[in-house]
Amino acid sequence: MRKQIAAANWKMNLSLEEGKDLTNDLLANSLDLTENRQVILGVPFPYLSAILDLTKDHNNVFVAAQNMASKGSGAYTGEVSAMMLKSIGISYVILGHSERREFYHEDNQNLAEKTDLALANNMVPVFCCGESLPIREANDQNEFVAKQLEDSLFHLGIESISKIIIAYEPIWAIGTGKTASSEQAQEMHAHIRAVFAGKYGQEVANEIPILYGGSVKPSNAEEIFGQADVDGGLVGGASLVAKDFAAIVNALK
Ligand code: PEP
Repeated sequence: MRKQIAAANWKMNLSLEEGKDLTNDLLANSLDLTENRQVILGVPFPYLSAILDLTKDHNNVFVAAQNMASKGSGAYTGEVSAMMLKSIGISYVILGHSERREFYHEDNQNLAEKTDLALANNMVPVFCCGESLPIREANDQNEFVAKQLEDSLFHLGIESISKIIIAYEPIWAIGTGKTASSEQAQEMHAHIRAVFAGKYGQEVANEIPILYGGSVKPSNAEEIFGQADVDGGLVGGASLVAKDFAAIVNALK
C-alpha cells in the first residue's frame, strides 16, 4: 500500500518559539497516523534539532530540511550539507521547490546532484516538480514535468527511486489561493506515475507517493486527496496554522 503523507513547508516563517508552539499545538490534536499515514514537517535549518526533539516520541511524524547543498563538503560558505543534516538526525529533505528553482537558480542538473547526495546520506528527498502558468496555458505541462523528472531522477536505479517522494506543485497555485482542480491534479499525478512506469515499470511506479502542493487547505484537502493518484499534500500557508494543518492531515486517505 502506498504511503499517504501530509508535508508542511514552513518556508522562511516563524521564530523558534512560534515554531515550537505550532508543533506542540499540532501534536496536541488527535492525528490519525499510521506507518502508511505520515506527517513531515519542513522547517528552517536553525530549528531542525528543536523540532526533532519535540516530535521524537511521536511515531510517524518526521522532520525535513527545506534544502541542502549540492556539494558534499568544503569551502562553500553558508551552505548546509546532506552529511550535516544526517548527523543531527534528519532523514527527509525537500528538494527543488519552485521558489528554490526561481530565486536561487536551481536547475535539473543541480537537483540531480542534490538527490544523489541526499540518498547517499540515507535521506529521503521530497522532490518537487511543476509548471508555471505560461507553460500550462500553452498546454506543455506534461512534457515539462516529465523532463524535470527525467533530468534529475532517471539516472537512479530502482532501489533509489523507490525511496523518493514526489511533490507536484503547479507554480500558479502556490501561495496564490488558486488551487488546481481535483481533475487537473489527478490528470498530472497519473501522468507522473505513467512517466515512472515507463522507465521503472508499473509495480515500482505504483509505490511512489505523489503529493499535490498548491493552496491546499482544510476545505479542499479531502477532495484533492481523494483522487486515485494523489497521495497527500505539500502544504505551505495552511501548515502555519495548527488546526488547519491537523485537519489536512486527517483528510489523508
Ligand atoms: C508550498 O510551499 O509548497 C505550497 C504549496 O504553498 P501553499 O500551500 O501556500 O500554496
